Formats: sequence, C-alpha cells, structure tokens
Amino acid sequence: MKHNYKYSLDRSSRKFICPNCHKKTFVKFIDNETNLYLNSSDGRCDRESKCGYFKKPTSNCITNINNCITEVIQPSYHNRKVLQEYCNTKQQSNFISYLLRNFEPKMVSQAIDMYHIGTTNYWYGATIFWLIDTKNVIRGGKIMLYNCNTGKRVKKPFNHVSWIHKQLKLNNFVLQQCLFGLHLINSISKSDTICIVESEKTAIIMSIMIPNFIWLATGSKTGFKEKMLKSIKEFNVIAYPDKTVYSNWNKEAILLNKQGYKIECSNLLESIELENGGDLVDFLL
Ligand SMILES: [Zn+2]
Repeated sequence: MKHNYKYSLDRSSRKFICPNCHKKTFVKFIDNETNLYLNSSDGRCDRESKCGYFKKPTSNCITNINNCITEVIQPSYHNRKVLQEYCNTKQQSNFISYLLRNFEPKMVSQAIDMYHIGTTNYWYGATIFWLIDTKNVIRGGKIMLYNCNTGKRVKKPFNHVSWIHKQLKLNNFVLQQCLFGLHLINSISKSDTICIVESEKTAIIMSIMIPNFIWLATGSKTGFKEKMLKSIKEFNVIAYPDKTVYSNWNKEAILLNKQGYKIECSNLLESIELENGGDLVDFLL
C-alpha cells in the first residue's frame, strides 16, 4: 500500500490500552517511513462516543469528542549527561569509521565535537544524532545504522531508524524535533549563512568539506517547514533539497520568504545526473 502521509493511524487490527479510558481500544499512529509506532500517546481511541481521545502526532495536543483541545503536552527533554554516556570513542560507530576512512582525523574529530555525534549498540555500531536546540536542550536522539564501507544507511531487512527514548524505554517521552545542528547557530552572527540539507550525515560531511558555513539538517523531506525553521528566520539560509524534492522545498521557501524569511532554495541537484533522492554528498564525493 502506498502512503502519502508521513504518519497515519495503524491500519492493522492491533489495539493498545487507551491512555484516557484504559480500555484496549487504542489505535496508534505509525510513521510510514519507518513503519514504527509513534509516541505511545499518539493515536485515537475507538470508543469515539464514550471516550473520544485523539492525539495527533504533529501538534502536541489532545482533543476531546468535539475536537476541542483539552490538553497541550509539553515536549520532553533528555538530561545533558546522555551526551557523555553515548560519546564512546573506543568503540566507533560505523558512521565514524566511514568518516575516518574518507577525511582527515582532525576534521572528523572536530565534527564529532561540534555535533556531539554519539554511538550506541541499540544496533551494533549505530550512530546517534542528537537534536539540540538553541537553548542547548536535548530534544531527542535519532539512532541510525550505516554501512562502515559505503557510508550508506542500512535499510535491509528493515530501515534501521529509531530514537534513544525508545532504547531507554521512556514510554511517555514526547518528541518535538528541531533542526539537527540547531545549537550551532548560537555561535554565529545574523550575517552568517546557514545551509540546510535533509540528512544528518550530509550536514556533517558538508561541515567538513565546506566549514565556513553552518550546516543543519531537517532529518526528513517533510522537515522543511515553518515549525522547524522559525529559529533561523533572521538568518540568510541556503537550502539544498535532495534531487526530486526541489519543487516541494522551493514552494515552502517562497511562502516563508513572504513572511520575512531569507531562504534561497538551490536547484543544483535537479539539473545534474544523479540518482533520485541523491544529495550533495553523492554529488561531491
Ligand atoms: Zn479511550
């Protein structure tokens, strides 16, 4: 089945305990990219007339039977000590091994420090990309597995993407994502240029190859939206959408620029020979 939505209610017959009425009538949201269930409180209770609990994943609010917002849920944060706990340098992640194979150790080590790249054995050799906001608050840690030779993501037999709050079994963790690398804007001035790409890996590699810009990542195609970009409204931004995503990102940029944003959307990757979904790193390396 082809899905057009990033998230949708689980179409299988599986039901969970409803956080509101505690009956086993709760349908969870599924992330269609990863096929994983979202936060345990995201979903809809089947007892529509008696309970009416419905929490959508995109806006952190619970609505009642009449679709009125009854509760706004605050995003959760990780304690800063997780950065230390998962920065194991003795046992490199596959991603770091890949970087060391292709770039100078000094540059790699700078990138690790800048982005606080972590390592976890959730899957052996997996990498953690921490989402740290402008207040230096840790909004989440995305876990991904790469092949250490090719630097490509491991997508078989399943797409290896998860979150550190799943590893830590923090069932009530409310994930509110920010741009990957957002904390870095604290160290630049409003006249500096910020570059935005989709993948965390690309942001990191570009920061090594073109270090005079700040490189941030949306983490997904759909992450290029106002909610994620509002912290960088004041900055000059160049966005580099992956091949075939240009028209979507450019439409969004045009809308945002009418509200005072300064985003230039680059169509560099559209015009060159590159597989669909190819990004700057595929182009440059
Ligand atoms: Zn219920």
